[in-house]
Amino acid sequence: MVKDIDVLVIGSNVMDLISYVERLPHKGETVEAPSFEMGFGGKGANQAVAASRLGARVAMLTCVGNDGFGVKTRANFVANHIDISGVLTGHQSNGVAPIFVESNGDNRILIVQGANTELTPEVLLDKIDLIKQAKVIVLQQEVPMPTNIKAIHLAKKYNIPIIYNPAPAHKLPLDVLQMVDYLIPNESELAAITNMPVSTVQETKSAARRLLSFGVANVIVTMGERGALWMTAGQKETLVDGQDVNAIDTTGAGDAFVGAFAHYFAQGESLDAAIAQANAYAGLSVMARGTQKSYPNICSHVTKEV
Ligand code: ADP
Repeated sequence: MVKDIDVLVIGSNVMDLISYVERLPHKGETVEAPSFEMGFGGKGANQAVAASRLGARVAMLTCVGNDGFGVKTRANFVANHIDISGVLTGHQSNGVAPIFVESNGDNRILIVQGANTELTPEVLLDKIDLIKQAKVIVLQQEVPMPTNIKAIHLAKKYNIPIIYNPAPAHKLPLDVLQMVDYLIPNESELAAITNMPVSTVQETKSAARRLLSFGVANVIVTMGERGALWMTAGQKETLVDGQDVNAIDTTGAGDAFVGAFAHYFAQGESLDAAIAQANAYAGLSVMARGTQKSYPNICSHVTKEV
């Protein structure tokens, strides 16, 4: 029996495999890399961890691999107090992201989706009891699109609000956009979805307006150090300034924002307050290195290292 949950994240999990290199090898060459780090990632998993570290009761609907990374990922959810009744084990290796960071800071990232491809629409039907409990459902675009479309239809059927983070950017079917309650792109995703420029706040507003004209109820654009812009179909425009912080590593800031927004929204906060607090939490996350490692643990849960 699943206990009540606030936030259900339906999405990806990925193991980040980060090699720090002086330079990348040429074809046929072997180069020694000075250091290596592993980190838990995947947009869905990051957002779930952010919400949980703020105190939300979070469940994750995801598919881990049938390998050691899958075992570790599952343990990481447990250590972060995330309900794993919707965590399946697939028939292939875990999603992984081999990342190469050169000494000048340039990075190159490969994504192997692995077991994330097994999160199919049928899985959602098997986990319908979990879905029905959620106060809000959070989606991103690292799992098959038919799964997201099914999730949106189920959410509508059970009257559950949808937070949709269109990342990584690819075009969304119009009928999907029309059913999304809160669409949260960053600036480059907004540009990719609308084919419009976003180099000034005015341009960003015009692009967001285009999405509203397609039928999205609320567009919340994250704008890095400039904060966030919230626009509604009812013409309301709210600009929330970014926190004045010493930014060290902005990796995963967007996921911190989405996870935090989901938490405050599920708590019943006003949208103004939920956006302001998500902006504050994401601002804190850029003050430390790493992705999940940089998300502050603000609630009374004790998070264990895995
Ligand atoms: P993504 O990580 O998807 O590229 P953004 O860069 O827009 O997303 O960052 C998401 C949120 O993180 C921003 O809306 C803001 O709240 C916060 N943020 C990101 N970079 C900074 C920064 N340099 N200073 C303060 N806050 C930041």
